[in-house]
Amino acid sequence: MPILERIEQQIQARHWTDSIPLEYHYTAGVAGEEFRRELKENGKLLTSKCPKCKTNYLPARMFCPTCFLETTEKVSITGSGYVYSFTIVAGDKSANKLAEPTTVAMIKFEGVKGGIIHKIDPASSAGLTLGTKVEPVFRERKVRTGALADILFFRPTGAVHGGRHSVAKVPSSQAEPEKTHLQNLIDMVDESGYPLGEEESDLSVIREKIGRNEHLSREEDSLLHKIVDRAREWHRAEKTSADTEPENTMSG
Ligand SMILES: [Zn+2]
Repeated sequence: MPILERIEQQIQARHWTDSIPLEYHYTAGVAGEEFRRELKENGKLLTSKCPKCKTNYLPARMFCPTCFLETTEKVSITGSGYVYSFTIVAGDKSANKLAEPTTVAMIKFEGVKGGIIHKIDPASSAGLTLGTKVEPVFRERKVRTGALADILFFRPTGAVHGGRHSVAKVPSSQAEPEKTHLQNLIDMVDESGYPLGEEESDLSVIREKIGRNEHLSREEDSLLHKIVDRAREWHRAEKTSADTEPENTMSG
């Protein structure tokens, strides 16, 4: 029955099962293919660099989405990455309990935008924290296919990214928004005209740390926010009196 013919009665509808052979080739794109080839042949993660903003992308991509420029330079990652975030998976996608829980992490690399989501070596995933340094462990060359599964897992190297305070310390590319945020707070305090008094010296330490992109201690962070609150109150009070004064003066 032609597909456009209207069925008057339900029993006229028929169905049969068969299969339609389809053949297709999937292309990962120019940069995607280079990334996969590097993975397969050299056991390396390939990044691409934007000639203008110098951003390094992982996996390698053909264009910089910010500058709309072709990424001409391709660089393989040599050093270890670090755990940016992780979770422990206890069940499969059908909610069946796994024999062994799997630790899955977002792995990032210093100075590189993007990252890889992959498993952590089950034999050494205990004690994993944010910032734990990890290295990819590849399958043997002859069984690699150019897929991310060519990496068996990432194995902790025993080091922690950024030293002891790894959780709080993030690479500069990530730290920038935080720095900007803190700098804005400092600017706000400065612009408010709030008289700092004894807090001046503490604030100047904080100011310098922010300038150097160093992480603030919990006490410093809390002090900064306390000062910001007070400065805001001060500014509001100043503004209110400035707004009301002329009126009062005129009425007087
Ligand atoms: Zn760019």
